[in-house]
Amino acid sequence: MKELLRLPAHRVQALIEGGEVDARELFLLQLRFARFVEPEVSSFLTLADEEPPHASEPQVELAALRGNRILSQIPVSVKDIIATRDLATSAGSRILSGYVPPYDATAVRLLKEAGNFIVGKTNLDEFGMGSSTEYSGYFPTHNPWDLSRVPGGSSGGAASSVAALQSFVGLGSDTGGSVRQPAALCGVVGFKPTYGFISRYGLIAYASSLDHIGITAREVTDVALMMNVVARPDPLDATSQAPPDADYVAALDKRGELKSAKIGVVKELMDPELMDSEVIALCEDSLRILGSAGVDVVRVSLPEVRHLLPAYYILAAAEASSNLARYDGIRYGLGFPADTSMDLQKQYLRVRVSGFGEEVKRRILLGTYVLSAGYAEAYYNQARQLRRLVAASVADLFSKVDFLFSPTSPFLAFKLGERMDDPTKMYACDVCVVLANLANVPAISLPAGLSRSNLPVGIQLMAPSGEDARLLAMGRLYEEAAAFGFRTPPLVAKKLDEFKA
Ligand code: GLN
Repeated sequence: MKELLRLPAHRVQALIEGGEVDARELFLLQLRFARFVEPEVSSFLTLADEEPPHASEPQVELAALRGNRILSQIPVSVKDIIATRDLATSAGSRILSGYVPPYDATAVRLLKEAGNFIVGKTNLDEFGMGSSTEYSGYFPTHNPWDLSRVPGGSSGGAASSVAALQSFVGLGSDTGGSVRQPAALCGVVGFKPTYGFISRYGLIAYASSLDHIGITAREVTDVALMMNVVARPDPLDATSQAPPDADYVAALDKRGELKSAKIGVVKELMDPELMDSEVIALCEDSLRILGSAGVDVVRVSLPEVRHLLPAYYILAAAEASSNLARYDGIRYGLGFPADTSMDLQKQYLRVRVSGFGEEVKRRILLGTYVLSAGYAEAYYNQARQLRRLVAASVADLFSKVDFLFSPTSPFLAFKLGERMDDPTKMYACDVCVVLANLANVPAISLPAGLSRSNLPVGIQLMAPSGEDARLLAMGRLYEEAAAFGFRTPPLVAKKLDEFKA
């Protein structure tokens, strides 16, 4: 039975539906194995109790889903920045330690109603700010392919939990690549939908105009099954805009029609000055695979690439400085109880100085600065203009090609500590992924094979806004043509051998 843990979710679900596997037993097995590998990888901030707190029978208003295939009865992980009722949710921050939300995020509620089980809450960079999970307020996560290396971030725990066979799929968040970059570094699939397609209700806000809930999985079909559950219009999120009757699973069957599609490779994002040579080499292999599948591959130029990181980091910090103003130690969390001997200002200062980590404080300071009178014109407003420029150029490219292509991460998974001395070295990890958030287009990272040192590399595909279903179909077409499939990291395979189910 333990070999089931290696399967993509859709295959294990078929066994459950065929009566060959009991969903509750599978959940318990999943939980025990997650605990068994956890000392090595540290994917989770909280693991669920042995007794699943909710029914395994699908109880969703399935009428609303009109017969679409949906993810059901599967153990899933949830990034700890997404609210879960009765299960601690800290956003990886000390300032929120002990906070137990009284409600579920809409995406979590839908997953539960579809009969899925929550394995636990995955580790992240504090409030989603980081690219390695080293800025977690608690502990770093390790890459299951090489424990001395980072899993990427900020959804590092989501990616490592899916790669290390601790959950079949994960919910993550993606403000500037946080689902896709760790997926690439851990050898799994990571998907950021169009803004608003998955409700942000219950997603702890980092930079609201860029924030998305995204999906980590082993195969594209699993992403589509998840989308059929969680991509729904939601009155609780004013920016929610999912088409009510989209069927992401059925769309995969139309991938044959995409064989004549045109993919534009963003030249500036294949620059050997910016990227590891092995990353470029594996991307070129992937392009050949796509070419052999009949897809038309052309090179396109996006000169705005040099503006992406400055624009993103100014906007994200500005929005963060405003969103994080609410953490005063009084309203949420138990880590810093009010000290009534102090006046209010001193109280705020004490809580915020000790409750936030260094990187979060850096972002709040930077964000406050770029928004302040006299500087907003020079920084924040210019960054907004750049965002519009980038979006316009991307829209222009999409009038010529159907999809855009780039590496997901310019680098292979790096050593823990390697990029901690200089924040700009960490920010440089995000050059390929922030594009989709700034331009508001859906994007997916897909495994593209292993480097000589046995580290995963990911490719990124982007589609015009709203064309999520077509993007998933293209992802499936690539997955099929490349025949890489999901691979278990060797050290996890060894742990599975040792594990007594
Ligand atoms: N690494 C980026 C940042 O620190 C992206 C984070 C994210 O997508 N949450 O802002």
